[in-house]
Amino acid sequence: MTKRVVLAVHGGAGVINRSQLTSETEEIFRAALRSALSIGYEILMEKSYKNHQCNLSASIAADAVEAAVRYLEDCPLFNAGAGSVFGNDGRIRMDASIMICSTAFNTADGNVGGIERDIAAIETDKTIQMSRYPQTPQPQAGSVAGVENVKNPISLARAVMERTKHVMLIGKGAEEFAQSLPKEVVETRRDDYFWTERRWTQLIEVRKREEQLQRQQQEGTGMANFTPMQNMEVQLDHASEAGQDIMDHDEQKFGTVGCVALYIPVEKERETEFDNPLIRPQLASATSTGGMTNQRFNRVGDTPIIGAGTYANHLCAISCTGHGEHFIRNVAAHDIAKRLEYKHGYGSEEGKKDGSALQKAVEEVIFGTLIGNGIDKGSGGVIAIDRDGNFTAEMNCPGMYHGWIYEDGEMKTRIFQDERSHKEP
Ligand code: ASP
Repeated sequence: MTKRVVLAVHGGAGVINRSQLTSETEEIFRAALRSALSIGYEILMEKSYKNHQCNLSASIAADAVEAAVRYLEDCPLFNAGAGSVFGNDGRIRMDASIMICSTAFNTADGNVGGIERDIAAIETDKTIQMSRYPQTPQPQAGSVAGVENVKNPISLARAVMERTKHVMLIGKGAEEFAQSLPKEVVETRRDDYFWTERRWTQLIEVRKREEQLQRQQQEGTGMANFTPMQNMEVQLDHASEAGQDIMDHDEQKFGTVGCVALYIPVEKERETEFDNPLIRPQLASATSTGGMTNQRFNRVGDTPIIGAGTYANHLCAISCTGHGEHFIRNVAAHDIAKRLEYKHGYGSEEGKKDGSALQKAVEEVIFGTLIGNGIDKGSGGVIAIDRDGNFTAEMNCPGMYHGWIYEDGEMKTRIFQDERSHKEP
């Protein structure tokens, strides 16, 4: 049965083992995930309706994912917003993206109501063309990369989507755009808001390892002139060593944050959904990060790249976390969405009832594509939902901070790979 409201969040994936988390630390993370879930859920249940810009057709789902990610950006536990990691030059540069799509609702007879109605409304020759090449609802997207001093990069990404004709703004230009926006939409903060001792220590540690590596390689190869690119050491926020409590070892922290949401209007409103696109089913995805510790040369990961770290269309919404370069090369989020549709037939007559299609598509990418030949695997995880409310979370590493909530308010958090019960998504 289709679920009306589903929301899931993640706070990064990586080497997160039970031996590294005391029960207090674990509870702090789970509580943060629960708070983010509650904030998004309240919006989806229309208890705290924000919708401040309301000029796009998936604004309730957008409000929910933005609000949940804003909470996680403000929470210093995670590598985004206030908790972001430092780059090699001691600066914090953040990336974020949001993608939304309003979907047509599947009627009881299996027709896709919204699309058929749209087709009927246009001229005959175009109708023929459209039935041959079925049109799908158009998603919207916004992203920012390499921004400094923006309190909530996800809100800036949303502003790009809703207030410009562009999809992606970077660096100084994105910051100028931020300055031009009302404070209720995007706030800026001075450097000290983002500075934390533990993140600084983390940078120093990674730099030390980098120097050591470079020395060893110089000695071993006799190469006097190597470029930093060849011997660069960067660290995923959640890379860590066994036997150490994560809270005690600041160089091994946490990760990127993300949220996916499905919102379907309540039954009584469905009859008017064709007249009012604002109440069609909506899917949304949002992801935000501080990138990788010691990253340099304005390195940008997958988070702000639409299709790599974030994707949403009329069938599903996906948010990724992990080693960004691998997610970019494999266009991971988009690959999941297209496998779901083209390979597993989800959304088509034959495939539309397949509640396990999303799970299969996610597994293929996480355990297949991203692992590759296993030598240089793309470590990370994904949260994803489809338009029937099927939710899945997968990781190819020991842990991912994540949680989900259904319409009835049933909420669950999970951290470790081996924590999953056979009944869970
Ligand atoms: N994907 C992010 C990046 O590569 C990092 C993360 O997920 O923690 O920038």
